[in-house]
Amino acid sequence: MWMLSSLIDFVFPARCIVCNSGPRQLCENCLPQSKTIPIAGFRFPVTAGFELEGGVEKIIAGYKDQQLTSLERPLAQAAALLLAAQDFSSIDAIVTPARNSKNYRKRGFDPARNVAKKALKLVGVRVPVISLGNAKTRLDQRGLGKRQRLQNVMGTMSLRRSGLLRVALFDDVMTTGATVFEMARACEKAGVEVAFCCVLAQRKSNI
Ligand SMILES: [Zn+2]
Repeated sequence: MWMLSSLIDFVFPARCIVCNSGPRQLCENCLPQSKTIPIAGFRFPVTAGFELEGGVEKIIAGYKDQQLTSLERPLAQAAALLLAAQDFSSIDAIVTPARNSKNYRKRGFDPARNVAKKALKLVGVRVPVISLGNAKTRLDQRGLGKRQRLQNVMGTMSLRRSGLLRVALFDDVMTTGATVFEMARACEKAGVEVAFCCVLAQRKSNI
């Protein structure tokens, strides 16, 4: 794999998604430094690693929208720092949002699920990562206002796996929190307790 990626770098030299210098998609200088940002308003602790701005915003957009999968690793490393600070002793699984089928078709991968899986591996925690199922279709949340987001997402996800008692939630970007509310609702409806939630980045917005 190292040989192949080196060859690809040689033939198609990459540019850093943040500062535009070569030859990597993310240079050493632009590696994001995550923080621990507590987010209020939920019945369980929610922590974000970044504010969605500057370099981090470019990295997450490059990963999700341009499918630059080499950016998955630095994001997983940041997620690993968040997860390493949590108590997994009574956690049966990490739960990620239901896939938006249109985005999934376009990307060919599920960003939140992939980052969570890689992060767990880095931390050495062995719990499964479970995506919620789609109970109803929903629109892409982007471009919607706060109330519309909640209406759009409410009742759309379901937890179909049985035998779980306590789970943690994980998502890549939190804007209004509507998706995290819906994830928690789906888990609680299935009789499963949500212990905590980690999100990679919080988008500060006025919507
Ligand atoms: Zn750079």
